[in-house]
Amino acid sequence: MTQGLKNRGRTKADMDERRHAAEEFSGAKLPTIAACPFDPQLAEKNVENMIGTIPVPLGFVGPLLVRGSEADGEFLVPLATTEGALIASVNRGSSVISAAGGAVSMVVKDEMTRGPVFRAKDIRHAAEAARWVEENFEAVKAAAESTTRRGKLLSATPYIVGRSLFLRFAYSTGDAMGMNMATIASEAAARLIESKTNTALVSVSGNMCVDKKPSALNSISGRGKTVLTDVTVPRALLEEKMHTTPEAVAETCYRKCNIGSALSASLGFNAHAANMLAAVYIATGQDPAQVAEGSMATTVAEVVDGDLYMSVRLPAVEVGTVGGGTRLPAQAEALSMMDCLGDGKAVKFAEIIGAVVLAGELSTLCAQSAGQLGSAHSRLGR
Ligand code: NAP
Repeated sequence: MTQGLKNRGRTKADMDERRHAAEEFSGAKLPTIAACPFDPQLAEKNVENMIGTIPVPLGFVGPLLVRGSEADGEFLVPLATTEGALIASVNRGSSVISAAGGAVSMVVKDEMTRGPVFRAKDIRHAAEAARWVEENFEAVKAAAESTTRRGKLLSATPYIVGRSLFLRFAYSTGDAMGMNMATIASEAAARLIESKTNTALVSVSGNMCVDKKPSALNSISGRGKTVLTDVTVPRALLEEKMHTTPEAVAETCYRKCNIGSALSASLGFNAHAANMLAAVYIATGQDPAQVAEGSMATTVAEVVDGDLYMSVRLPAVEVGTVGGGTRLPAQAEALSMMDCLGDGKAVKFAEIIGAVVLAGELSTLCAQSAGQLGSAHSRLGR
């Protein structure tokens, strides 16, 4: 159907022609999709076969008080979602965190990974190639960095299985999420390794990256930004605003996020971190498929000196404030609501994300400990 069309044409006329062909083929009318609010040429690097846009409802939570090294102050956080009750719930958590003095949030590791796989003759050859990479790391690094101004290759960790040699390359990617950057750089490094070790590059992504899939490797080692966030909610505040106790929240978290997650062999030891991540990612032009890694958060709740201590560890927050979908006008506006658009903002953005995930975790665990989850959803979401 589209074979006769210029599927990379970027003008509005190209887009309209393509959509009319889709309408004719499918018999569907697409007037809402057609109402694209920006020049389609702006999406040149974000989509092919463009026929319009899908509007997603956008709300916000906040002001959310964050005490990070880069994010220090009150923020309105945009969330794009079709799940009724989500924003009301996260907003409730946000107001309690702010009343408690704010969430402390920090990025403790910041490395984007790409893991090419090479074919060797046998395990001895694979081990020799891995040793060559270790001994010639500066040359591998120079090859990778020849493709980018901001990207820096930090390490190359080898894993061997039979005739397969995997190298997990870790990069510093500045304010970009870095997946395109790391992929292009890894291809250049891999070509050098192939030529010097007589191995064959099978794929620049050998699933030791691990991109867009849950994995114990990323859960432990991190990918993108590893974010830690915590808050202590005074007992009186919790009882007044959330109608529950620190003991009830701690027990709900323990039995649900620890025992329940272990029993189900889940990699996500949390209540619903993916909900907040997906809504922020869609609002701000991040790659929503990377919620797969983001969902592997660990939430803890403890009673400390009679108050509720809560924390989230997010091992893989893969976000950027330049590049990718952040170039699109509405997504750039959403980032600008937090002053998180452009150079020097990626750590700040990740710290805010930690706080908004904590807000959602706090609210949901409180609701479940007080037996309110079903009633909130039937009131707000149905
Ligand atoms: P990108 O839009 O491809 O590249 C961002 C570029 O911005 C960088 O390469 C960098 O140029 C430049 N830049 C300017 N200011 C910068 C700053 N302050 N910090 C860092 N870079 C700066 O974005 P990306 O983050 O590399 O990749 C994100 C995209 O990758 C998303 O659209 C995502 O959906 C997609 N993705 C790709 C793959 C893949 O395998 N290729 C996999 C998953 C997702 P220099 O490099 O010259 O420094």
